Amino acid sequence: MTRLVSFADGTTVPALGQGTWEIGDDPARRDAEQAALSRGIDLGLTLIDTAELYGSGKSERLVGEVIAGRRDEVFLVSKVKPDNASEMKMMLSCEKSLERLGVDRLDLYLLHWSGRVPLDETIAAFEELVDEGMIVRWGVSNLDIRSMNKLEALEGGDACAANQLLYNLGTRGIEYDLLPWLQARDMPMMAYSPLGRGGLLEHPVIVDIADRHDASPAQVALAAVLRHDGVIAIPKASSVEHVEANADALEIQFDIEDIEKLDAAFPPPTSEQPLDII
Ligand code: NAP
Repeated sequence: MTRLVSFADGTTVPALGQGTWEIGDDPARRDAEQAALSRGIDLGLTLIDTAELYGSGKSERLVGEVIAGRRDEVFLVSKVKPDNASEMKMMLSCEKSLERLGVDRLDLYLLHWSGRVPLDETIAAFEELVDEGMIVRWGVSNLDIRSMNKLEALEGGDACAANQLLYNLGTRGIEYDLLPWLQARDMPMMAYSPLGRGGLLEHPVIVDIADRHDASPAQVALAAVLRHDGVIAIPKASSVEHVEANADALEIQFDIEDIEKLDAAFPPPTSEQPLDII
């Protein structure tokens, strides 16, 4: 089953994509990781998330090898480190990412987190890359609701296309305010670490619901994230077996009993929470 999420400009992407943190780090795992990413694209998990930070470029290089000859099948996301998010440095960072990825443009370029460079300067640097055709659109990651309001108030800030945030059953704080804020603006929320980095998969309630649906705990964790509108999940899987399982997560339809059990085990927020990040 494919579910699509729309950007404010009308572009659609699959709600389930693929993450790549730590992919490309270990030469012994390279073949398995490439096979997993490639199988994911075959199965429609065509949004690929990477970053200049990951393995100091090794992740982008591996992604580049996987998408060689299939650039048009994928929606490519990379991220600039905060220290490089200035008018002086961003263009060079982006050029290097494009070279490692073997492409001439990114579909989405994100500020990895907010650092010392003022946001208005980062917006200007992003817009220069849009003008040069090196990126189609830009967004942010790890920005809380106060920072999003500040960004939106800056000149050009309303062009921000997405916010990538830590979101899984174990950390639901953004459901209180930031997720509705993003939904109201058709700004997709990219849920990172949707499996809690694997840490959620032995939780007895998740295992129990998985058993009821003849599914796996990872599928339940992903389905729980993806039941909200405007959410894109980017699980990292480094085996074909895992990526095939993840691709079926959208088949799960929770009933009221499932939702009640999940909410009892992982209570939704009832007040504003500080943004959780990794
Ligand atoms: P994650 O996707 O929540 O979890 C990855 C772990 O789950 C790995 O150990 C993986 O094992 C395992 N896994 C995947 N599919 C599975 C399955 N079907 N059954 C059992 N285990 C499974 O963690 P993450 O890598 O932290 O987050 C995902 C992506 O989000 C990253 O790769 C990165 O692209 C992005 N991210 C962004 C930020 C940011 O600051 N913007 C921060 C963190 C992550 P195998 O590897 O063995 O398959």
